[in-house]
Amino acid sequence: MCKVIAVANQKGGVGKTTTSVNLGIGLTAEGNRVLLVDCDPQGSLTVSLGYKEPDQLENTLASLISEVIEDEDLQIKETIIHHEEGVDLIPANIELSALEINMVNVMSRELMMKCLIDQIREDYDYIIIDCMPSLGMLTINALVCADSVLIPVQAAYLPVKGLQQLIKTISRVQRKLNPGLHIEGILLTMVDGRTNYAKDISRLVYDSYSDQVGVFKTIIPLSVRAAEISAEGSSIYQYDPKGKAASAYKSLTKEVANDGR
Ligand code: ATP
Ligand code: MG
Repeated sequence: MCKVIAVANQKGGVGKTTTSVNLGIGLTAEGNRVLLVDCDPQGSLTVSLGYKEPDQLENTLASLISEVIEDEDLQIKETIIHHEEGVDLIPANIELSALEINMVNVMSRELMMKCLIDQIREDYDYIIIDCMPSLGMLTINALVCADSVLIPVQAAYLPVKGLQQLIKTISRVQRKLNPGLHIEGILLTMVDGRTNYAKDISRLVYDSYSDQVGVFKTIIPLSVRAAEISAEGSSIYQYDPKGKAASAYKSLTKEVANDGR
């Protein structure tokens, strides 16, 4: 059975894309069939996997969703890119942002991505959707088609307010559109183990949220090597296999994979 995980937080730069790449490739290494979906007009996930000019791509998530909207045959095979580390990718580019604006007038606009994902779920064990930093229509679409949400939180600022807004949005989607949606967990990222401040934030998030939504035991450390991989087109396992970020993402992969499926 396929599990669809949306990686979401409307706060920018908290590690959503880095987590999508390394969780996805981590799950592949454990023998799973994994599809990564870039759901951000910035195309950062697409670039991170080595496709440096996403705006040149003709077949993307935007063209697939347009096909769903227009009731056309889906060009799925033409769109999916096979990455050398074993994951598949539906790329994205700037066209997704025009599409998001146009979707406002579409009937059942919240369900467009679900229509698409439902047609490919059977081919994968995991589908991971890298959301953009907003709670707009594309992120709602991702939440509607997901089984769970993984929320990366950067341990360097007080995240409480934004998190409550996100959790409220998730509950609303749960009540109205996707009763099966649950929160996979909060993932603390870019934790600088040397500072007390990062430790305080980590403890605060744990104390405030571990009952309500669950917090992953794994913490992703601040790592220069992790910051470098987006320019390399590879995962942390390939770029710096012995480093602390690789070992943290391996342990996150195990936590996700052992989540009682
Ligand atoms: P956006 O909201 O723009 O989509 P994001 O939440 O997807 O951002 P990333 O792009 O994954 O966040 O990460 C933001 C920046 O932090 C990037 O430059 C990335 O390389 C860097 N980064 C990610 N993880 C780490 C880490 N563990 N240590 C240090 N830097 C990191
Ligand atoms: Mg991103």
